[in-house]
Amino acid sequence: MKPAFRSLTMAAVLVAGSASWAQAPDETIDEALERCQRIEHGQPDEALALARSLLARDELADDPVRRARALGCRGWAEAQAGDTAAALATTDALRSQLEQIEAVEDRVPLLRRVAGLLQRADRTQASIEVLSEALALAQGPGLDDERISLQINLAIAHSESRNHDTAIGHYQRALSALDARPGDPRRMPVLYNLGLTLRGADRLDEARATLLELIEPLSAPGLEIRLASLYSALGSIERARGELAAAEDHIARSAALHADLDNPAEHSAMLTERASIALERGQLDQALTHARAALAEAERAEFVSSIRGALAILARVLAARGAYPQAYGIQQRYSEVSDDYWRDRLETRLEEAEARFGNERQARELAELRQARQEQDFALRRQQLRQWVLYGVAAAIVLVGLGAFFGQRRHTHRLRRLSRTDPLTDLANRRQATEWLDTMPESTESGWSVIWLLDLDHFKRINDNHGHDVGDQALVELAMMLQRFGDNHGVRTARWGGEEFVLAGPVDHAGSARRIAETLRRAVAKLDLRDRTGRIVELTASIGYAPLAGLNRHSGQSRWEPALQVADQLLYRAKQAGRNRSYGIWPVEGRAPIQVHELGAAVRSGQCRLLEGSDSAD
Ligand code: GH3
Ligand code: MG
Ligand code: MG
Repeated sequence: MKPAFRSLTMAAVLVAGSASWAQAPDETIDEALERCQRIEHGQPDEALALARSLLARDELADDPVRRARALGCRGWAEAQAGDTAAALATTDALRSQLEQIEAVEDRVPLLRRVAGLLQRADRTQASIEVLSEALALAQGPGLDDERISLQINLAIAHSESRNHDTAIGHYQRALSALDARPGDPRRMPVLYNLGLTLRGADRLDEARATLLELIEPLSAPGLEIRLASLYSALGSIERARGELAAAEDHIARSAALHADLDNPAEHSAMLTERASIALERGQLDQALTHARAALAEAERAEFVSSIRGALAILARVLAARGAYPQAYGIQQRYSEVSDDYWRDRLETRLEEAEARFGNERQARELAELRQARQEQDFALRRQQLRQWVLYGVAAAIVLVGLGAFFGQRRHTHRLRRLSRTDPLTDLANRRQATEWLDTMPESTESGWSVIWLLDLDHFKRINDNHGHDVGDQALVELAMMLQRFGDNHGVRTARWGGEEFVLAGPVDHAGSARRIAETLRRAVAKLDLRDRTGRIVELTASIGYAPLAGLNRHSGQSRWEPALQVADQLLYRAKQAGRNRSYGIWPVEGRAPIQVHELGAAVRSGQCRLLEGSDSAD
């Protein structure tokens, strides 16, 4: 389930009550407005009738603030009743009404209302714009409460757009403001969402710590659904951390809670997680049972992202069992569901642009979206072809292998490969990378082992300007290039996380380390990437690198950790210096080991050489 969706339902569970209010003939307009807002979520039809009757009253004709509040209630009730078109029309009416309202304390909550309605209708970008406007306005005293809500809403919208880091920042600001307000009901949903977002950003330890805080408060009666999801999320985090026993423990708790709950979407998420754990453990029969049950529950819930998740795991399990034709069939269903999913999202963006149609920039945007829709099928077909080739090759390997190894060892091999491979790019994932880093010696006969850390420049802009799927495509193309590059240079390659990649291997001297960094940097810039409309997608990367030898290591640190820390610092330096460049260090032999956190001093004192490369430095 999408984090934003979870958060909305969770906020609703915690904040909205379920009591029902009968219409009182003697209530004031303000009382009626408050009541409307209280019931708009749980009893949308009644709220709608109430809002309509309020809007028809003469007193509201020249009372822009109350009129706007009534419109807000009507819009939410319409959305809640499933009438998105009506809700969007009401949102527009609310926006025009806002033009007559100047007082900040009136304007800010109403802007937040507009943003909430836009968010519900999947107009995430528009919603972010409105929220940012409101946050800029809400700086005065007495607006602390609004500021917290705005931070939370911004966080939700950004995590919906997969801007994890920005979302995390907003959640953290909201949390520190909430620290001064013990008992505020927003604290729990914020912590919960922060945990899920940290997990999305692959910041697993922080995610785990954040979610663990919630076990106790969510153990209260009435919150079982939330607690079950919490355990599910913790299970998935532990699995990603490689802690399978802990993962199973959490999932078992989630399963025990689910036994008494009828919530197929959440149940399916839990079963998907169970299947993944069983797959990693090599328990293929169990994995298959769980994956099939996950799909059945997801279909019962009719929840697209659960169905996609269940199909994805089912395909992996079938492939691990060597049932390639079935795996391929499921994979095709996955692609079809994804196809519908992306088409729906693109439709929404189309509508959004159409609604804002009016100036030239928007007209262009509209034309581009139209073309994007035509090109979409093409891109999807390419993706399917790639999957097909992948399965074809895997099947061929297994068929050949069957004769020689009676299958079993190949199965195990393939199983291990799946759990240690990044699903998007098919490169080694972080777990596999740490495994080979652990066995890498500081030096070999031919020289020193080196770690290169590569991070794409301004990748967020690529997602923003061309769409997330083009960003994904860029990562796939880059990964294919890296794989070839690694094979040619005797270097191993992995996706470290997000748009960050790690390479490692031996080199004979400083010059070779620098040459590899620079060849790599130029190869990224030369990738011929285009979006669906044929526009060129500019891609560059910054690189930091360091050898394993000559660095000071704390007790308990792996051999490679100091080198990775240094590479990370140098990568940061490359970003600061303008990106699309590489920095490395090379310790001078015979000198004391370099302190990782005193790199600058080490360079100045001649303990190590600084290696650099950029287009202008050549
Ligand atoms: P910088 O040059 O400073 O590295 O800027 P940046 O935008 O690349 O860096 P930042 O870390 O702020 O943003 C990284 C972005 O990468 C944000 C995230 O949405 C995107 N990203 C991470 N993983 C994926 C992915 O699997 N697919 C896509 N499309 N985008 C991803
Ligand atoms: Mg980046
Ligand atoms: Mg990054």
